[in-house]
Amino acid sequence: MYYTEYETEPREKRMKRKWKGVKDVLAAAEAGSGEFRERLGALGACARDFKDWDDYAKIPPLRKKDLIEWQREHGIGWFLNGRPGELRRIYQSPGPIYDPEGREPDYWAWSEGFFAAGFRPGDLAQMTFSYHMTPAGLMLEEPLRDIGCAVIPAGPGNTEKQIEFLTELPVNAFIGMASYLKVIGEKAVALGLDPLADFHLEKAYVAAEPLPESLRREVQEMFGITVRQGYGTADVGCIAYECRELGGMHLSNYRHVEICDPATGLPVPDGEVGEVVVTPFFTDYPLVRLATGDLSSMDLSHCACGRTARKLTGWKGRADDTTKVKGQFIYPGQAATVFSRYPAISGWQIRVKHVSGRDVLVVVAETAQPFDTESFEADFQATMKLRPVVETCVPGTLPENAPRLVDERTFD
Ligand SMILES: [Zn+2]
Repeated sequence: MYYTEYETEPREKRMKRKWKGVKDVLAAAEAGSGEFRERLGALGACARDFKDWDDYAKIPPLRKKDLIEWQREHGIGWFLNGRPGELRRIYQSPGPIYDPEGREPDYWAWSEGFFAAGFRPGDLAQMTFSYHMTPAGLMLEEPLRDIGCAVIPAGPGNTEKQIEFLTELPVNAFIGMASYLKVIGEKAVALGLDPLADFHLEKAYVAAEPLPESLRREVQEMFGITVRQGYGTADVGCIAYECRELGGMHLSNYRHVEICDPATGLPVPDGEVGEVVVTPFFTDYPLVRLATGDLSSMDLSHCACGRTARKLTGWKGRADDTTKVKGQFIYPGQAATVFSRYPAISGWQIRVKHVSGRDVLVVVAETAQPFDTESFEADFQATMKLRPVVETCVPGTLPENAPRLVDERTFD
C-alpha cells in the first residue's frame, strides 16, 4: 500500500520528475530571491546555465547560519518570490530563523511518511509537538488530516494531561519525540497505570531527535506499539521517512537530497558519509541546495517494501558547530547572548550528554565569584528553549580555545 504512485516509480522517471522540480525552483529563485541572485552573481551564471545534475551540484550550498544572518540583515522578503502576505503562514524557530509556509497542499510533504508508518483514515492521533511559533505541530497535523485521521492538538508538556487524553480517549497514534513518549510511559507507571493495558496506542510517529534503537525498542515494548521516525527540518519539512522494513529512511519524493562534502559542497561518492543538502520544490521560498548540517549517507540497496526511493542511513552527527538536543538546535552564538548578561562568568562551555537514556545539557561556567545559577538557568531556558544543568569551576579550568559546544553523546 502506497500513498502515491511516485513511491514505486523507476529511478530514471523519478530523477526526471525531480529535475523538473529543481528547474522550477531555479527559475523562481532567479526571479524572486535576492539571496540566490547574489549566489548566481558570484558564479557569473544564470539559472539556465545549469543543464544537468552535475551542473546543479556545483552551486555552492546555502548554509543555515548564513540564512539566519541574512534574514536578519535583509529581512524575509529578500528570500521570497512574492509578498509575505501571499504565504499561508510564517513561523519562527530557534536561531532565530523565520520559516515561511506556502499555500500548496501537503507543503511540508509529510503525508507519504505517515502513510508508510501505517497511519490510515480513522486513526485518532495525539500531537505533542508545539503549535506555538515553530512549525512542528501544524506541519505534522495537516498531513494527518489529509490522510483522514483526527488529531488532538495536545502540544508539548503537561504530561498528566497527556496521560488523561491517552487513557480517556481511544487514541491509537502518538506523534512527538520518542524520549517524550518514554517520559509519558514512566509517569503513567508512577501513577499506577499499565501502559500496555490502560492505553490504546498502536503506533507512534517520532521525529526531531536522533532515535537510538535501544530507545525505539524500549518504547515499543513499553506500550506494545510500532515506532517509526521521520527526518526533516523546520525549513524544508520532510526529507526522509521510515517504512515498515526499517533499515534507513526513504528519501522524500518532493525534495532533491544530496550527500555532500561539508567543506566543498560537492556530492560525495554513493555510500560515503557527508552533509545532507536539500532542495525542496518550493517556488515561493526557493531554497537552492540548503545545507542542513546533519551528517548521513545514502543506502542504494532495494527495500522489501517496494518503494524505490533511496534511503538515508540515519543521523550520523552534525557537520558544523551546532547540535540538536530534544529537538532544538543549540547555537553557541545564541547562547553567548545569555552569558554576556552574567559578567561573573569568565569562560564557558556547553556539553551535551546522554545520561540514563536522556539528553542533558550541561553548562560549564568558569567563575571566581558566586552568581545566581537559578536565574541564569531560567534566562538560558527563555532564550535557548532548554533548561541546562550548571556546573561551576574556577577560571582556567577549561583549556584555552576550548570549543563552545561539545556533543558527548554516542548513538548506537
Ligand atoms: Zn522501504
